[in-house]
Amino acid sequence: MPDSAYNSPYRTKHRRGRAVTCHCCRKVFPFCWSCRCGFRICQSCMLDNLWGMSCNAITWECPDCGGQNGFGNQ
Ligand SMILES: [Zn+2]
Ligand SMILES: [Zn+2]
Repeated sequence: MPDSAYNSPYRTKHRRGRAVTCHCCRKVFPFCWSCRCGFRICQSCMLDNLWGMSCNAITWECPDCGGQNGFGNQ
């Protein structure tokens, strides 16, 4: 019996340690926006909060430390 059923996303989490937990929704994603202070936010939470975190869609402000982070530069 093939074990493809065990080839779940759960295992990829340990492969390279790239999966990160969103600090907003607490789900694990292969990619999250991150701040130098350690704050992480996923794409979907970012879109939900874009009105409050970004005023120009070029940078976003970290709700934790208030630092400015750029989009598409990571
Ligand atoms: Zn999220
Ligand atoms: Zn921060």
